[in-house]
Amino acid sequence: MLRPALFLDRDGVINVDRGYVHRVDDFEFMPGIFSLVRGCRRLGYRIIVVTNQAGIGRGYYSEQQFQALSAWMQTRFRAEAAEVDAVYHCPHHPEHGIGIYRQDSHDRKPKPGMLLKAAKDWSLDLSRSVLLGDRASDIRAALAAGVPHRFLYRSNDPPEDAIAVAEFDEVIQQLQLLS
Ligand SMILES: [Mg+2]
Repeated sequence: MLRPALFLDRDGVINVDRGYVHRVDDFEFMPGIFSLVRGCRRLGYRIIVVTNQAGIGRGYYSEQQFQALSAWMQTRFRAEAAEVDAVYHCPHHPEHGIGIYRQDSHDRKPKPGMLLKAAKDWSLDLSRSVLLGDRASDIRAALAAGVPHRFLYRSNDPPEDAIAVAEFDEVIQQLQLLS
């Protein structure tokens, strides 16, 4: 039985985007994110984080630092009864990546690689899935992966191909209408 997913961008959605956040001290959860995840779990969604992390490729922080922060983040979610099933990240950047990190990766949003990989790993039904992001590149990745429900959260980017939302409650309300 395939399950739908809520795909979450990280910076600007789960936590305040301070630019290349890689330390617990700089990681400030967005108010309401735990209750959004709890609500979506109740509706049957898997919770999958998909995050571009070119800061790794640029040499600003290491893969290990990223993994440690992700583990801490998932522990925090679990403590709030809002489990995140998986975190996918793309460390590459086509121009600014150093060494092996300099590549035009199919995983880097706006490309859909991370979403497609997660769909395979977790038996997701993309045709019933949802993405919540704060950039046009998030929305384009969802479009390319065939994710029909796309929400753009507190963004300066134009809400083309997405529903613009300012509060997480609006997302839950829309998803309740679908189920
Ligand atoms: Mg973002």
